[in-house]
Amino acid sequence: MAKIKVLDSLIANMIAAGEVVERPSSAVKEFIENSIDAHATRISIEIADGGKTFIKVTDNGDGMEPEDAKNAFLRHATSKIRTKDDLSYIATMGFRGEALASIAAVSKIDLITKREEDISGFHLILEAGKIVLEEEIGAPKGTTITVTDLFYNTPARMKFLKKDATEAAVIRETVEKLILSKPFISFRLLKDGREQLFSAGDGNQLNNIATIYSKEVASNLNEVHYESNGIQIIGFVGNENILRPNRKQQTFFVNDRCVRNKIFYAAVDEAAKEKATVGKYPFVLLNIGVDYDKVDVNVHPTKAEVKFTDERSIYGSICQAVSEAYQVKELVVSAREDYEDRTFSSPQFENKAFSFQIPEKMENEIHRQKESVIFKEENSAPNTLHLTEVSEPFLEADTTEFKAFKPKIREDHRDFVQKVTEHGEEKNEFKIDYRIVGQIFDTYIVIEKEKKMMLLDQHAAHERLNYDKIVENLKNSQTMSSLLLVPYTARLTPAEYECALENLDFFKQCGFDIEDFGNNCILVRAVPFDYERENIQDILIELCDMLDSYKKEPIASKQERALYTIACKKSIKANKKLSILEMEKLVNDVFVLQEKNTCPHGRPLFVTFDQYFIEKQFKRV
Ligand code: ADP
Ligand code: MG
Repeated sequence: MAKIKVLDSLIANMIAAGEVVERPSSAVKEFIENSIDAHATRISIEIADGGKTFIKVTDNGDGMEPEDAKNAFLRHATSKIRTKDDLSYIATMGFRGEALASIAAVSKIDLITKREEDISGFHLILEAGKIVLEEEIGAPKGTTITVTDLFYNTPARMKFLKKDATEAAVIRETVEKLILSKPFISFRLLKDGREQLFSAGDGNQLNNIATIYSKEVASNLNEVHYESNGIQIIGFVGNENILRPNRKQQTFFVNDRCVRNKIFYAAVDEAAKEKATVGKYPFVLLNIGVDYDKVDVNVHPTKAEVKFTDERSIYGSICQAVSEAYQVKELVVSAREDYEDRTFSSPQFENKAFSFQIPEKMENEIHRQKESVIFKEENSAPNTLHLTEVSEPFLEADTTEFKAFKPKIREDHRDFVQKVTEHGEEKNEFKIDYRIVGQIFDTYIVIEKEKKMMLLDQHAAHERLNYDKIVENLKNSQTMSSLLLVPYTARLTPAEYECALENLDFFKQCGFDIEDFGNNCILVRAVPFDYERENIQDILIELCDMLDSYKKEPIASKQERALYTIACKKSIKANKKLSILEMEKLVNDVFVLQEKNTCPHGRPLFVTFDQYFIEKQFKRV
């Protein structure tokens, strides 16, 4: 009878292990959480072979007395429920007292633990959940738990594990999240003897962000501080300089636990919709503090997801918190943006906004296409398109609609146009009758052409041109690579660094010549095309992101994506004022393209409003 009982509990634990301990990182997470619960201020993690053969977590926490240490490995053994009052708090935080039992069932465990008040420590060895050795031992205060050969007795589970580098990367990510959730605890992660991560535990979250992401990220953040209706939100949101093509840089903690929930993303998207561009996401790190009875973490076996009793108020609070954080930055920016600086503004146009209502459907369309347009004019309805920034030099006097402005054509400009047409034979050949009216929102070029008004998205247009040029070069098997006179050192996050090293050949095919420079740095000797130096780091990061997001795609399609990315990075950005020269060059080149009216990502290059449409708005037809 007794024997059957033991077997029962072992099998139960192995089944539980399948739920709780998915992979080495799950064990690491459980151990660290236990150390945190035991009030540790220093936690060190060592792994070998992606954690498959070796995981060791050492803390300076409370430690356990021998009896408790042995009980800790029993199923449903937890020291975290003492009174009945604890129960709701405990239940919601997911203390189920099964982590140690589950991990022990599928591995070999060595535990050394000592409480402050005890003279000596206690040493315990378990195999498949069974104690095989217990003894007194000299030890410092705290607990060291070592796991060797995880899943050694569950070969099916073992087969599911990814290669060492991948498992190690997942562990690093797990530790990163824990560092960010506990800035007052010092963490150290050693991988195969080499230090991968270190946090000082001095509460300096910006330092942690710089270590984990990059210095660049840390210097492009706004602080979030929000409290209302029993919900407290603190953290950081990133500005438009550090947008990413995925949500990897969006991290949420609820009461210090890293969790996911769709409404977090939805709320941030809503609050950041004027900041983000199509397919790009801002950096977000938020710790949401709510009462324990308002949240349930037990909806997911590893507590990775949460449920809220009042989702609406969480959504609203995150929206509010993020918007407020952005507002601060907006003020800083607008304070700097003095009127004189606006290249194309002329005082005589002040307060003479010419605007028309765009039907809602069209407005949505424009909204969908726009890169990052912020309607700055204060007195305007949000769906009003303003032409206040129409530039003086290239307004022609004969347009009835603009008559009120009576602008003069600058002589030097007229000369220039003639010069260009005289010397540019190519241009004459493709001479298309159009007129550049100006640039709006520093993003769209307004063109009048054959009784139509066109808005050209400067970024999408340039991207299309660059992409075609790259592909053309490749077709003619011209080398895309250009050697840098002085090599460039790119500083990456550990994850990006590893990705770059794993894909050296891929980068070579894309025109880069890069090599390992140690310490998360990559030395760049050559770049595709004639890439600007200040963009090299960004392009490397974006390519690593892409490689990571589309891991499973065939190499050819990844290469195509890389070309898009390279073309995109080389292109004129939205929110950039252009000179008349730049606009003319762009518009000319785009009109030569003829049939292609989309950027490589499939977004349109321009939207056209014909005269009939415009006149209809004025009820003239
Ligand atoms: P839970 O954390 O849900 O209570 P675990 O199986 O993770 O369950 O741990 C069982 C018990 O072992 C804990 O309640 C705690 O008392 C003890 N324990 C585990 N790890 C440590 C540690 N690093 N320091 C002190 N006590 C620990
Ligand atoms: Mg635990």
